[in-house]
Amino acid sequence: MFVLLTVTALALQSQVADTSPFRALALPTPGRVRSASGAPGPDYWQQEASYTIQATLDTAAQTLRGSERIHYVNHSPDSLAFVWMQVEQNLFAANSITYTLNQPPLVFAGGVSFDFTGKGFIGGGVMEKFEVAGKPLQRTPYGTMMRVDLAAPLAPGAAIDFDVAWHFPIPPYGGGRMGRIASRLYELGQWYPRLVVYDDVNGWNPLPYIGAGEFYLEYGDYDVTLTVPAGFVVGGTGTVQNPEAVYTPEQRARIARALTSDSAVAIITRAEATTHTAPRTGVKTWHFTARNVRDFAWCASPDYRWDASGYRGIQINTLSRPEARPWDEAHRMAHFTIKYFSEMWYPYPWPQATTCEGLIEGMEYPMITFVPALPRREDQFWDLMHEFGHEWFPMVVGSDERRYPWMDEGFNSFIDYGAAESYFRGTAYGDTVRRELLSAAQRFAVPGTEQPMIDKPVEQRDLAWAAYQKPPLMLTLLRDAVLDSATFNRAFREYIRRWAFKHPQPADFFRTMANVSGRDLDWFWRAWVFTTARLDQAVNSVKAVGTDSIYVFLSNRAQMVMPVTVELAYADGTKETRALPIEMWNLGSRFTARFATRKPVVAVTVDPARIYPDIDRRNNTWAR
Ligand SMILES: [Zn+2]
Repeated sequence: MFVLLTVTALALQSQVADTSPFRALALPTPGRVRSASGAPGPDYWQQEASYTIQATLDTAAQTLRGSERIHYVNHSPDSLAFVWMQVEQNLFAANSITYTLNQPPLVFAGGVSFDFTGKGFIGGGVMEKFEVAGKPLQRTPYGTMMRVDLAAPLAPGAAIDFDVAWHFPIPPYGGGRMGRIASRLYELGQWYPRLVVYDDVNGWNPLPYIGAGEFYLEYGDYDVTLTVPAGFVVGGTGTVQNPEAVYTPEQRARIARALTSDSAVAIITRAEATTHTAPRTGVKTWHFTARNVRDFAWCASPDYRWDASGYRGIQINTLSRPEARPWDEAHRMAHFTIKYFSEMWYPYPWPQATTCEGLIEGMEYPMITFVPALPRREDQFWDLMHEFGHEWFPMVVGSDERRYPWMDEGFNSFIDYGAAESYFRGTAYGDTVRRELLSAAQRFAVPGTEQPMIDKPVEQRDLAWAAYQKPPLMLTLLRDAVLDSATFNRAFREYIRRWAFKHPQPADFFRTMANVSGRDLDWFWRAWVFTTARLDQAVNSVKAVGTDSIYVFLSNRAQMVMPVTVELAYADGTKETRALPIEMWNLGSRFTARFATRKPVVAVTVDPARIYPDIDRRNNTWAR
């Protein structure tokens, strides 16, 4: 009898635990590398990959040719018998996974679309050399990844220098992330072979580059020399080390003036860009260096006009073709964005920030972004600001984009709404832009087709919702409905500070938010990140209790739980709101709230501010 009772009780308990929204998140066991508080632990390590690259842009052959020395330091506790390299130009090889799949483009609101293919272009990278100390290494390419076997295992703490030479034909359209316009404008990313991340969670991370799913990269220092036609202006990751060789004395004087100016100073005026006073023959070599970045990208064109300004010693640059319209406000947008994110979240940590106008619909790299000219002012701001927002996620906070776009696109999109609200404050757009997340929820959170945001980007059939819209809706509600602005901002800033220039995993984020806010948020992450649970709060009925209070019978009719805000409307026309804590749903899916009130109540509404993606609003109000 006793035994039986115990078994029954246990069975009941486990049944409750399985279905409870409050069941604990199954996070990986913390340790000395990643601590239980969500901070990097005392033994946290990550690899270092630094690059010295010489490359030449051949605009006649449309080829980029380069050689590089990679200094790779093994800070892991493991001996490495081989390394994995990313060779992303193979996306455009005839037999690539991308070309075989021939996926439809990813289309965003506002008409921006990403075609992850090369639109029929057949190219691919050619590896000319991969050596250590003059000795070639065994290479095994696998699509956009390549394994390189080392002559002897690389011991913990040891470093190795790879000498690599390569070339590739430059695609006119490079999967939405790089490309060129004839031989007049080049936007170059994914252009040099680079190390795959080796970490404490997955070991090597050679997930292929297919299109969706961006880059997970090691931090390091860069020394890059780019030889281009003499008339070209180049923008790149890092700072120019040979200004005397590449700028005129007039341009150098203008740059010095721009550094102390809040508003745009023309380094190359529209008139100068239009008349092409720069030399049209010969070549010029640009020398850039960058410290503690995870990638290097660059743009080049003989047609660029160039505006610059300064913010706390940071040189902000916008490069655009004279005919790009409406680009005139772009510099003000760029300056605002760097300043806003710096003051709101984390100071911009590098000496310059550049946006290049061109064919790419929006792409981010350290210190440099590629942004098109868009006809609508709001879209122009959003795209330019969004790409710069990536300087915080993932350039500063170096998360694994190939697995977790919600920690990159998602976190960035969340901070973007704040930037748009601030830039357009007082306008209809600025005051309502965040509401679009709720209409997106209605349209895209479709039962049966929606996937949890934790799914990999290449497995997501609606990446726009899962990576760009659901995460900012989630964080907005965490801030406004679960925590409060001060608590949320403090925790989110601490997450950025802890993981700046490091590789956070989802658990590090969940733990940091819980530890800093002091709240158990397992129930929140479980619903929002790991499931497609929907929310349906309802007022079932209302009953007066004597003359001094009322009972409000509430129910939670779907799988997601959220705290409840109740609005009481009185017969005299006044209203007031009462907040109920999330713990109410610990008791089950029904809850009876007793509110003290002496005035007759004529209507009771849950979520009166309509901030929740409640799937059935018809049951949100009880009226007498
Ligand atoms: Zn983005």
